Amino acid sequence: MYRPNDDYLKLPGSYLFSTIAKKVNAYQAANPDKKIIRLGIGDVTQPLCPAVIDALHKAVDEQADPSTFRGYAPDLGYEFLRKAVAENDFRARGCNIADDEIFISDGAKSDSANIQEIFDKNSKIAVCDPVYPVYVDSNVMAGRCGDYDQATGIWSNVIYMPCTAENGFAPELPKETPDLIYLCFPNNPTGAAVTKDQLQVWVDYANKVGAVIIFDAAYEAYISEDNIPHSIFECEGARTCAIELRSFSKNAGFTGLRLGATIIPHDLKVTVDGKEVELHSLWARRHGTKYNGAPYIVQRAGEACYSDAGKTQIKEMVAKYMKNATFILNGLKGAGYEAFGGVNSPYVWLRTPGDMTSWEFFDHLLENANVVGTPGSGFGPSGEHYFRLTAFGSYENSVEALERIKAL
Ligand code: PLP
Repeated sequence: MYRPNDDYLKLPGSYLFSTIAKKVNAYQAANPDKKIIRLGIGDVTQPLCPAVIDALHKAVDEQADPSTFRGYAPDLGYEFLRKAVAENDFRARGCNIADDEIFISDGAKSDSANIQEIFDKNSKIAVCDPVYPVYVDSNVMAGRCGDYDQATGIWSNVIYMPCTAENGFAPELPKETPDLIYLCFPNNPTGAAVTKDQLQVWVDYANKVGAVIIFDAAYEAYISEDNIPHSIFECEGARTCAIELRSFSKNAGFTGLRLGATIIPHDLKVTVDGKEVELHSLWARRHGTKYNGAPYIVQRAGEACYSDAGKTQIKEMVAKYMKNATFILNGLKGAGYEAFGGVNSPYVWLRTPGDMTSWEFFDHLLENANVVGTPGSGFGPSGEHYFRLTAFGSYENSVEALERIKAL
C-alpha cells in the first residue's frame, strides 16, 4: 500500500490568503453596494512594457518559421540572456559575476523552494521572522524542520531571527550556528532594506562559520536609497558564501510570463571526502535533470528588459508603484500610524493600533474602511500586531484607501 510523504503531512494548511479571500467574499456578499479596495495583493497590476511586448511578438514570429524555430531551451538558459543578466545586474554594478554563473529559470519562487535540494538533509536553516513562507515550507517538505507547534507557529528545528521595529527589521546574528541562512532584502513582508555594511556583517559571518546565504533579491528594483546593496555580490567575500535569487516579476511585471535567475559563483565550494565540490555543479546537475529551460520567447522578453527602451520603461513602471508606496507610507504616518518600509520596497508595514491583533485589524479595516490588507501574523509569529499594505494597486485606489483609513 502506498504511503504519502510524511514530511508533507506535517505542513499546516496555508490559511492566510484563503482566509482573506473567504472573509472578503463574505463581506462583499453581505454588502454588495460597498466598493472594496484591495491593498493586500503581492501581484503586479500594470501591463508588460512595450519593449517586452515587441520582443515577445518577434520571438513568436521566429517560432513560426522553420529557419528560426527553437525547441528545447538550453537547461541553464540562452547565452544571450545569461550575458545580459550578468552584464547589467552584476558587472555594471562592479560585481564580479561571469555569464556562466547565471542560471535562468521560471522564477524566484521555484528556485527559492528548490535550492535546498543541493544541501545535506541535516542542514540547519535560519530564517527571518516574519518571512516569505516558501523558504520554510520547502525545507519542511524536505524533512529538515522538525515538528510544528500549532500554538506558537514555530518549527522545532528552525532558527528564527525576529525582525521587529525594535531592531529596525534587520535580523541579528543567531546564537545557534546555521548551515543555510535565508535573507531577503528589500524584504517581503516588512519592506525593510539593509545597508551594505549590515549585509557585509552577514557575509563575514557566513564565511566564518561555513554557512551559505541564500539571498533573495526579488525586490531589488525598488531600491531608492544610495547605501542599499542591489546584490549581495557587492559585499566583499560573497563569492565564497552566497547564492542570489533574481526575479523578473516585480520589476518588469513577469508574474504571469515567469522568468528568474539564480546566481551561483564557482568560488562557492566545499571539500567533501578530500574532494572539492562546487555548488554550481550540483545546481547545474539538478537543472539538467529536473528542468527543461524557460521558454525561448520568455527569455527574449527578459533580454528586452535590458535594452535602453526596456530599462526606461521598467523604471517608469516601478516609479508608478513607488508613487503609491510613498503616498501610503506618508498617509499612514500622517494619520498617526507607526508605518515602515515603502522607501526601498513596494510594501508598507504598519503596527496595528491599540494593540489589536493582526486579524482584528484586518476585520476592522475591511468592515469600517472596506480596505483589504494582509495580517502580519500570517508571515510568522513576529509579524503579530503588524499589517502589510502593498503599492501594487492603482494610484486612485491607494489615495481613496488612505482617505478611508484616515477617516476611521
Ligand atoms: N521571493 C519573494 C520574497 C517574493 O515575495 C516573491 C513573490 O511574491 C517571490 C520570490 C516570487 O518571485 P517569482 O514570481 O519570480 O517566482
